[in-house]
Amino acid sequence: MPAQAKTSDTDSEKGFKMLASSAEKTRVLVVEDEEEIRELVALHLRREGHTVETAGSVEEAQALLDSGKFGLLALDWMLPGMSGVEMTRRIRKQSSPDEVAILMVTARAEANDIVEGLEAGADDYLSKPFEPQVLIARVRALLRRGRRLKDGGKPTLGEVIRMGGLELDPNSFEAKCEGAPVQLTASEFKLLLALANNRGRVLTRDSLIGLVQGEGVSVVGRTVDTHVFGLRKKLGTCADVIETVRGVGYRVKPDYSEINE
Ligand code: CA
Repeated sequence: MPAQAKTSDTDSEKGFKMLASSAEKTRVLVVEDEEEIRELVALHLRREGHTVETAGSVEEAQALLDSGKFGLLALDWMLPGMSGVEMTRRIRKQSSPDEVAILMVTARAEANDIVEGLEAGADDYLSKPFEPQVLIARVRALLRRGRRLKDGGKPTLGEVIRMGGLELDPNSFEAKCEGAPVQLTASEFKLLLALANNRGRVLTRDSLIGLVQGEGVSVVGRTVDTHVFGLRKKLGTCADVIETVRGVGYRVKPDYSEINE
């Protein structure tokens, strides 16, 4: 299994692991029909201290879901009998994102499939093949977000949000990069705040369109891109907080979802 070779303790990974020492532990369900990948995902999540259960089919997964609560689901997209997106819809009828986070693990890198999955209620996705560090970073970011949701909807409301050198004050609509004020339009600030409040999650262009409405002549996905382009320019050295998810939307880089906790 070549992916496993990447788990050896390089210096950068040691630093990465240390960063994780305070990470939240939860019960995780890995749904994946390919045994090798299933075991690999489970291994890495167990190393993080999570309690991991695995299912190779939708039926097994459903039985486990009925047996008790999970904090996170790592869900393969292509499963025999049912797609991950159908399963996501089914789960979201019963459980909200503050109860269970859903990470799609998909070999399908088609933007439309990913958008469909996110709109069905998945929180983030991971493309196969993946780096174990990326898996872990996404899981940590999702669990932090779940905790924030549980702590009262938008726990960052009213608090200054820090991500790297960037500071956002939701009360005054002020943004600072490395201590220097950044002049943002209301739409730019709203976009940035939405991304910040959803650290750990991909936001599709459609979900961001509402924030820039009223400013563009015709509000389409491109308008969001234009705003993000302008936003990045103004943020300068702090712009790398925003990650483009090609064809899908934007998110705060998982690295930055670790900070400010
Ligand atoms: Ca599969």
